[in-house]
Amino acid sequence: MFIEPKNNKGWIEVVCGSMFSGKTEELIRRVKRAKIANLNVRIFKPKMETRYDKVKVVSHDSNFIDSFPVDQSSEILRWVDDIDVVGIDEAQFFDAELPTICDKLANKGKRIIIAGLDMDYLAKPFGVMPQLMAKAEYVTKVHAICMQCGDVAQYSYRFTKSGGQVQLGESDQYEPRCRSCYIKGMASQQAGKRR
Ligand code: ZN
Repeated sequence: MFIEPKNNKGWIEVVCGSMFSGKTEELIRRVKRAKIANLNVRIFKPKMETRYDKVKVVSHDSNFIDSFPVDQSSEILRWVDDIDVVGIDEAQFFDAELPTICDKLANKGKRIIIAGLDMDYLAKPFGVMPQLMAKAEYVTKVHAICMQCGDVAQYSYRFTKSGGQVQLGESDQYEPRCRSCYIKGMASQQAGKRR
């Protein structure tokens, strides 16, 4: 489990993994602990992420905390003057400037906690996540459970091929899978079967 370092210097943390891996729950856990420590916290998320609620960061188990939806990562700079801990959820959907923004804020002494999908449904690195993971002092990969075999899962397997990279959805469209079950599924999709 991640234990916060004790210093006033800024740093960047990344919590990443597949869908249903508990990324947002871990972000919320860390932010809540910062609140208990009397730090000023604020969570941002991209405006397009409107799965359940426009303002709250909601995890799959309905654990929630208020957040600021923003159109662009540069907007974050306007809302963090009095903030010690900056949370960023669904970071994979942010624009290419986010890593620079996070660096800027960490250089000013702020703690940045980022949660996001490390890979898309094709198992390709997702958006700005690789850059963020490279810049971060601390990277935590969280894992889901493979819905096919019960092993540790790191892939977000999608049942439908249509829809492009960005398709928000729930368990009817996605399921977490381990490496071998993911590869099996993709092979049968290629062969024209559903699984
Ligand atoms: Zn499996």
